[in-house]
Amino acid sequence: MNVHEYQAKELLAKFGLNIPKGKLCHTPTEAEWAARSFGPGKLSVVKAQIHAGGRGKGGGVKLARSPEEARAHAEKIIGMQLVTPQTVPQGKKVHKVLVAEGSDIDKEYYLSLVVNRENATLSVMASTEGGMDIEEVAENHPEKIITTDIDPTVGLSGFTTRKLNEALGFKGHLAKAFEKTLKGLTEAFLAYDCEMIEINPLATTKDGQLQILDCKMSFDGNALFRHPHIQDLRDYEEEDARELEASKFGLSYVSLEGNIGCLVNGAGLAMGTMDIIKQAGGDPANFLDVGGGASQETVTQAFRIILRDTSVKGIFVNIFGGIMKCDVIANGVVSASKELGVKVPLVVRLEGTNVELGKKILSESGLNITPADSMADGARKIVAAVK
Ligand code: GDP
Ligand code: MN
Repeated sequence: MNVHEYQAKELLAKFGLNIPKGKLCHTPTEAEWAARSFGPGKLSVVKAQIHAGGRGKGGGVKLARSPEEARAHAEKIIGMQLVTPQTVPQGKKVHKVLVAEGSDIDKEYYLSLVVNRENATLSVMASTEGGMDIEEVAENHPEKIITTDIDPTVGLSGFTTRKLNEALGFKGHLAKAFEKTLKGLTEAFLAYDCEMIEINPLATTKDGQLQILDCKMSFDGNALFRHPHIQDLRDYEEEDARELEASKFGLSYVSLEGNIGCLVNGAGLAMGTMDIIKQAGGDPANFLDVGGGASQETVTQAFRIILRDTSVKGIFVNIFGGIMKCDVIANGVVSASKELGVKVPLVVRLEGTNVELGKKILSESGLNITPADSMADGARKIVAAVK
């Protein structure tokens, strides 16, 4: 789960970190007043709040020298379709901005923490090349990214901070400030069960401070039950409507760019189905695992989500009945189809428990179904049908 920059900064506030003051604003007037509240002659920065990076490049981050200028920036940014390298091509609509006290930046650095599953540690990545795309730095100057690990059972060691301070060139009070920053971030990471915290830029200012100017934070979905206050930060406007609906019914659903809708049971079979569609020359529109013990109602919901997806030009139902019975799947498919109608080709491969009953329900339903004998056969048939 992801949160907005302003929420991430609020969550980090209690860990002794240097983060410029800011206010969340929904209107230009609010933005003007927020900028005014920082005091006369203060710089402010107006920042679009969407779940995507690269906002600066897309015109979603603007520095203001006066409250009137902050208002003018907010007028442009609120309501805009912000296109960044991390959004879909049509961009994301901006509903709110963070107006933060502006900083007089000396230099921008990069700092992030991510879970390292292989080593069971937190990996720290740092670079003197902050502010810009870290992917670009990794591509062209990999030697400018330093990585090191933190053992979560031990916490941050003096050795790790010294190594990073050396690499980033921080001395004296900046080295102290960096140590405090990394310590605070590590504590926050562990306290909130994060997957990632990315500070880009971490900036030194002309008056000698080390400040967190931007922050992305994501959380381990499996640990969210331990953090109800973080679950409350979920912004439904930022999430894929179909994924959101699927999650209400306990379905594992991820929407993808292709045009073949897939209804599958079991995560492994769902992945195998996507692979075999690709192999046959097609592109799946989604990953969908209805789970092992899904009820007819859940299957109906799942099939509804696929039927309503306008990018779907064909549907492949690929079921291996184990705990899940083929007749339950068949009934779900039929009931959703009766309600919404199936306007695209439908290929069904059923195997396993109650397969005969499942096939009977489908054949008596009057639906126009192309049966398949195997996964590969089904994939070939649906790919041919959508072409
Ligand atoms: P992103 O583009 O989505 O990563 O948004 P950022 O919050 O990182 O802002 C983009 C860029 O705007 C930063 O790299 C900075 O160069 C600049 N910026 C952000 N906040 C400030 C600020 O307070 N003062 C100044 N001078 N520049 C800022
Ligand atoms: Mn940034």
